[in-house]
Amino acid sequence: MDKAIKNKFDELEKLIGSTPLAEITYRHKKSEPRTLYFKLEYFNLSGSIKDRMALNILKCAYENGSLSQDHVITEVTSGNTGISFCAIGAYLGHKVLIYMPDWMSEERKGMMRSFGAELRLLSKAQGGFKGCLEAVEELKKTDRQIFTPYQFENENNSLCHYENTGPEISLQLKKAFNKGAEAVIAGVGTGGTIMGLGRYLKAVNPKAKAYPLEPASSPTLSTGHKVGSHRIQGISDEFIPPILKLAELDEIIDVDDGDSIIMAQKITRTLGIGLGISSGANFLGAVKVQNMLGADKTVVSVFADDNKKYLSTDLLKEEPVKDGFLSPDIELLEYRAVTI
Ligand code: PMP
Repeated sequence: MDKAIKNKFDELEKLIGSTPLAEITYRHKKSEPRTLYFKLEYFNLSGSIKDRMALNILKCAYENGSLSQDHVITEVTSGNTGISFCAIGAYLGHKVLIYMPDWMSEERKGMMRSFGAELRLLSKAQGGFKGCLEAVEELKKTDRQIFTPYQFENENNSLCHYENTGPEISLQLKKAFNKGAEAVIAGVGTGGTIMGLGRYLKAVNPKAKAYPLEPASSPTLSTGHKVGSHRIQGISDEFIPPILKLAELDEIIDVDDGDSIIMAQKITRTLGIGLGISSGANFLGAVKVQNMLGADKTVVSVFADDNKKYLSTDLLKEEPVKDGFLSPDIELLEYRAVTI
């Protein structure tokens, strides 16, 4: 790899990863206080967990020679991935071309444009997510200067969580709380987070559990195909991603999208930790896992991004409480944070 590029990757590694871990103490239905653990991933360079995989995919591609300075980085993305490639691509000196469904939030689109990227938006009628994937393949047939990270099938996506996020969690849990993770849960977008963390934690402790999470109103993982719709941006696209190996994981957990919105709002208002909707979903999923395994179990997850990209969405609106919601019975008490 060229020395100037290598130096840039060294700088990026200082601004991506090594995020704080928060221990959140809460009660469920007036239980004794319980704790859950979350990596605060909005601390990454462009504000989400996706910086980790974008950095790793680009670095590995430079190392194996499949990416060089004259390539246009082109990806299909529901938002955070695009923002990560736009930010890192800008610094590395690449043009970035993003394909995405047109119903994603305005904040996400604006952020990508602010890094100088070009956006191509496809409506539902134009094929939505699948249409975007097909459009990129068409483009590649005629233009050889396109580099496609293929986040849904690139093993360097989950590998960054196996090599970095997982070991960070183990280190932080041990150092600050003298604990080891017994279960992990994470909403599935590409599946990179749950596969990398699940494989790492199971390697450290073969009894550890790893649960993929999906929206109850759009259970793609349980049914194998796209059904219904949901509002948890960043998770559950229209197919089962190739890097997600359900056979290596434990059972699929589902959460309601309205419940996730209320939970994210509650954490934001009570603890002052501004969160996106998938983080509310991950919190509820972690509560469900603790209800299943035992209140004293050490359950970890991630807060994938913060609230800034959702200002025009239902996250900023009053969400009606429905029967069966968990969030109304959750009382948040305090947090303790640990850095690396
Ligand atoms: N939450 C948010 C906000 C995301 O943007 C993503 C990535 N699409 C995820 C969760 C899911 O992460 P992964 O792709 O690693 O499954």
